[in-house]
Amino acid sequence: MSEVQHAPSFYAASANPAPDRPKLEGDVSTDVCVIGAGYTGLSSALHLLEAGFSVTVVEAAKVGWGASGRNGGQIVNSYSRDIDVIEKIVGKGQAALFGEMAFEGGRIIRERVEKYGIQCDLKDGGVFAALNARQMAELEHQKALWERYGYDQLELLDDEDIRKVVGTERYTGGLLDKAGGHIHPLNLALGEAEAVESLGGKIYEQSPVIRVETGEKAKVVTEHGVVEAGFVIVAGNAYLGGLMPELQAKSMPCGTQVITTEPLSDELAERLLPKDYCVEDCNYLLDYFRLSADKRLIYGGGVVYGARDPSDIEAIIRPKMLKTFPQLQDVKIDYTWTGNFLLTLSRLPQVGRIGSNIYYSQGCSGHGVTYTHLAGKLLSEAINGQAKRFDAFASLPHYPFPGGHTFRVPFSALGAWYYSAG
Ligand SMILES: Cc1cc2nc3c(=O)[nH]c(=O)nc-3n(C[C@H](O)[C@H](O)[C@H](O)COP(=O)(O)OP(=O)(O)OC[C@H]3O[C@@H](n4cnc5c(N)ncnc54)[C@H](O)[C@@H]3O)c2cc1C
Repeated sequence: MSEVQHAPSFYAASANPAPDRPKLEGDVSTDVCVIGAGYTGLSSALHLLEAGFSVTVVEAAKVGWGASGRNGGQIVNSYSRDIDVIEKIVGKGQAALFGEMAFEGGRIIRERVEKYGIQCDLKDGGVFAALNARQMAELEHQKALWERYGYDQLELLDDEDIRKVVGTERYTGGLLDKAGGHIHPLNLALGEAEAVESLGGKIYEQSPVIRVETGEKAKVVTEHGVVEAGFVIVAGNAYLGGLMPELQAKSMPCGTQVITTEPLSDELAERLLPKDYCVEDCNYLLDYFRLSADKRLIYGGGVVYGARDPSDIEAIIRPKMLKTFPQLQDVKIDYTWTGNFLLTLSRLPQVGRIGSNIYYSQGCSGHGVTYTHLAGKLLSEAINGQAKRFDAFASLPHYPFPGGHTFRVPFSALGAWYYSAG
């Protein structure tokens, strides 16, 4: 089978050097097997390795091949739905916990970049831009809401302020998140993969998982190999297909497209985005843009499922870009590409466990750069807690029942026996 390469993105063209990792061949045994080497998988792997687990990551294509290596690169704090929506679903007490976690993903990214020396052009500052008075009122509401949860990094921008950070007449105002920002997304993923390997984690590429067999030890099966693992993390998100039918049924992959201009002159780049912040507007099908380190404008927008032909992508996204920045009329587009994110009906992520040892997180509905980093931490915490308690039980001597049957019961039954015997 031919090898899958990265999408023809600006990021692939400007990626830091990275090795071609081997295919999975033969049998491997590990504490945790992670399916998918995007941010969810890599973040989980890093947290688990730091906690002392052995980890094997199995990736269908290449590290960062999915949304993590081709997104807008915008570090957007909080979730795809705001805390007041979550509050209505889970109640005030539980919402406080979500409030505390809403800004953690961005912090994790910065910690990772610092700790592992990841070169990914990290810049601070993200702007939510309002196209009308109603959207501006929503931003004011959002600021008050986030401040209720102790977040103090926000600054409202009126119609004059916003012109000082975005060179367009389109916006009536905005909200600056000083702890937002942007990154070269593929280089972040590649740096995280290198960090995983520096801690002894193994990553296999070009190895699509075709089957997961459940059991006390799960078996993750590819065409040429099998990983036997105490725990599995399913991190295939919008590219998982039908591997886990229970996950496929409750989410929907959606395509979004990105274009990248030729490098702009310093003077033009400065006129478009004088502070080098990233920007997303407040429409439901939003436009998002920022400058690359070599001063190209990277502009994404809308959700157009299935427009995969490069000329289609340019035809769809370039008019959006020109509406915001008519001054780019004569600028050439060097790259166009498409990528899939996973939409859920609630627009909130789906996190859970299948059986006793298969964990998943998926469906951050477009705002996944920060959330996936938090998800990795949450999944590793869940496995860490469970494994510690499981190991305590497993270390108890196993006495045969009268009659000499082999003592092999599921964990939950073993626990029940232990407590009733105590
Ligand atoms: C074009 C685009 C722009 C975006 N812009 C932004 C943005 O600016 N800010 C933001 O916050 N979010 C953005 N997002 C969303 C964000 O990129 C995603 O939410 C996030 O990257 C998802 O990460 P992930 O690790 O869960 O999934 P992915 O990065 O998609 O990784 C999943 C991986 O699993 C692998 N896989 C799947 N099935 C199997 C299998 N059977 N066996 C082995 N491996 C498998 C895939 O090959 C893939 O590499 C954007 C998304 C897209 C597509």
